[in-house]
Amino acid sequence: MFYIWLVLVFLLGACAGSVVNYCFYRLPLEKSLFWPGPRCGRCLRPIRWFDNVPLLSFVLLRGRCRSCSERISPRYPLIELLTGLLFAALFYVEIGQNVLGLPYLQMRRAAIAAGDIPAPAWAVFGCHAVLASFLLLTSLCDLDDMAIPLPITITGTLIGLACSALFAWPFPGAERALPSVSGFVPPRLPTGLYPWPVWYPLPVWLPPGSWQLGLATGLAGALAGMAVIRLVRFTYGMARGIEGLGVGDADLMMMAGAFVGWQPIVLSCFVAAFPGLLFGIFQLLRHGNQPLPFGPSLALGVVLTLWLWPSLGDFEALRLVFFEPGFLGGIIGGGAVFLLLAGLLFRFILGTPPKAEL
Ligand SMILES: [Zn+2]
Repeated sequence: MFYIWLVLVFLLGACAGSVVNYCFYRLPLEKSLFWPGPRCGRCLRPIRWFDNVPLLSFVLLRGRCRSCSERISPRYPLIELLTGLLFAALFYVEIGQNVLGLPYLQMRRAAIAAGDIPAPAWAVFGCHAVLASFLLLTSLCDLDDMAIPLPITITGTLIGLACSALFAWPFPGAERALPSVSGFVPPRLPTGLYPWPVWYPLPVWLPPGSWQLGLATGLAGALAGMAVIRLVRFTYGMARGIEGLGVGDADLMMMAGAFVGWQPIVLSCFVAAFPGLLFGIFQLLRHGNQPLPFGPSLALGVVLTLWLWPSLGDFEALRLVFFEPGFLGGIIGGGAVFLLLAGLLFRFILGTPPKAEL
């Protein structure tokens, strides 16, 4: 039964991919999403609903417009396929394998394997599927013309904040949250849809499972995503004498932060360096020293960090890093000094590049 859900989720993803396509085509051109309706780019005839079925229509029409036979870019079915696979993978990994380590899902393993997916599990999947769709859309825009349209990231941030208020840590199951005021440090902080709350121990006015705690967690994530990238960009760029990362990257991380909270967002900036390095080497080998969009790496970094979060291990050590103001300040200061030195070093070795090169 679980696998029937997997197929349905794939089809849902293909439909979401169709929406992603539509936004990807229209938003960078600053076209309206709602008027006019979908139409062929050449003959401008409206595309009827039965010619707009994800994946299927492309095959049935043999990749051509019904009215004028203009070739339809294979980009569209590819993105639909990709989104479908992304949704199916997300469902398999998060609900089937419970990689987020949610106790609620652990307790219902047998039921889930039998295809009985409880509503909170759908909520967890739903939030992350929306996040994944937005990350895919922003990555595509960034790959296409090195820019991430602000309407996408703003919309994503608002949806993320709504999710954070609706499904506050430790969703699902507020009853398993630990007492917040006793000063007792648990061996493990339970993970929820949002891996961790905004702060721990929780202040009295932010009880577990409350929308206030949820919104604070989402807002802190959005602010952290925006601030970290800008800080990195400013510090490194100042030392190096260039602008390092685009502002769109900060917007992307603001959006992702609203969905995952501030701790994973900060870590994912570092994790993103690994796919970034791989893409960078690949780009250098294939196209020479060209500017590289960093959005896709950041998106991958966010997903990887989210999935790896429960296996980070010892809470005692992590608590020190994330919930001790002095230690946290030290790390931020140390990071800034490191970036300054790295920037100065590269400036010394490579010189200041002309402005157009970025
Ligand atoms: Zn046409």
